[in-house]
Amino acid sequence: MSLPESSSAKKTGFNTRAVHAGQAFEPRTGAVVPPVHFSSTYAQDGIGGLRAGYEYGRGTNPTRDALQEQLAALEGGTAAFSFSSGLAAEDSMIRALTRPGDHIVLGNDAYGGTYRLISRVLGEWGIGNTPVDMSDLDAVAKAVAAGGSASGGGKTRLVWVETPSNPMMKITDIEALAAVAHDAGALLVVDNTFASPYLQNPLALGADVVVHSTTKYIGGHSDVVGGAIVVNDPELAEKIGFVQFAVGAVSGPMDAFLTTRGLKTLGVRMDRHSDNAQAVAEWLLERPEVEAVLYPGLPSHPGHELARKQMKKFGGMISVQFKGGEAAARKVAESTSVFTLAESLGGIESLMNYPSEMTHASVKGTELAVPVNLIRLSCGIEDVEDLIADLDAALSGLDGGS
Ligand SMILES: *Cc1c(COP(=O)(O)O)cnc(C)c1O
Repeated sequence: MSLPESSSAKKTGFNTRAVHAGQAFEPRTGAVVPPVHFSSTYAQDGIGGLRAGYEYGRGTNPTRDALQEQLAALEGGTAAFSFSSGLAAEDSMIRALTRPGDHIVLGNDAYGGTYRLISRVLGEWGIGNTPVDMSDLDAVAKAVAAGGSASGGGKTRLVWVETPSNPMMKITDIEALAAVAHDAGALLVVDNTFASPYLQNPLALGADVVVHSTTKYIGGHSDVVGGAIVVNDPELAEKIGFVQFAVGAVSGPMDAFLTTRGLKTLGVRMDRHSDNAQAVAEWLLERPEVEAVLYPGLPSHPGHELARKQMKKFGGMISVQFKGGEAAARKVAESTSVFTLAESLGGIESLMNYPSEMTHASVKGTELAVPVNLIRLSCGIEDVEDLIADLDAALSGLDGGS
């Protein structure tokens, strides 16, 4: 049995949708897992006589369609679009929704690659931007109202937020921010990569566009790069669908298949990632070498109550700042064995990252720069005692402990 996207799928639970949406068995053979469709083109019965609507692989592909249906069902959207990377998804979506002269207000701790795309690539094509602290709604309202006027630019079209943010783990009130954006006639874009659709559904909270780097939790196994856009407004869907087709930064069939396979287990993985991170964060908080633990699951986190309200759990990402400064952070980053020092996040294996020289090197020296005593942990699904023992060994080598 299969659950069609539009009717019964929406009424079932998250994990049921994750497993079944877009995954109807193959009718000819009964194969429970639909085959991966590699064909770039489709036979026509006479000119224009398409058998099932499929014509050419840049426009549509059954394996990509299946992933898009699954993504829409899990984010509570009416349409999803899959791309070759998170940044390709962002680029196509921004091109669909803005014009030269328009302005974007984004978080002052936005993902470095997003800021680089908006400021250095799209900026050259006349898109202005203002980075602000998204947790300060008055500052956001002011920046949105001013738009690009200071530099001769135009109206703010997009307000762009990550919550939790990367790597500062700030929490922003999505519902309140949607009201600020809508009051000014702008759209709210939420990069939901850190939370994943299992923990947070921005469209239900009033956001207009959800962005994912599916490379992270959605793919979940560090073996595929991809991105997605999800919306629930038919007009936005039409604009984004047109650019997806016209620009062609789409995911290939194998990438779409791997992403779908990962997404089926998102719920069980996110429960484990979140439980492991909660235990690791509580353990870190007790360590004398640690200056601050940035994790929304800690009652001491300034966004804790808000995160409880808009998220199901607190996710697998933790940032830690050390009393021993840059030297201590670098030493820890280079002395673990279960946590692997690597870019990226959201896979089943635990990763550690030194943002100021790795993921966020592109914003060094700008107002988005990350503190040099900070490391970011992506807690995997390994046994939590092993994660803690690994960190214990790494921290024990530091000065500044008791
Ligand atoms: C990784 C990431 C992106 C970019 O996605 P790619 O798949 O690397 O292109 C965007 N936003 C966030 C929050 C990310 O972590």
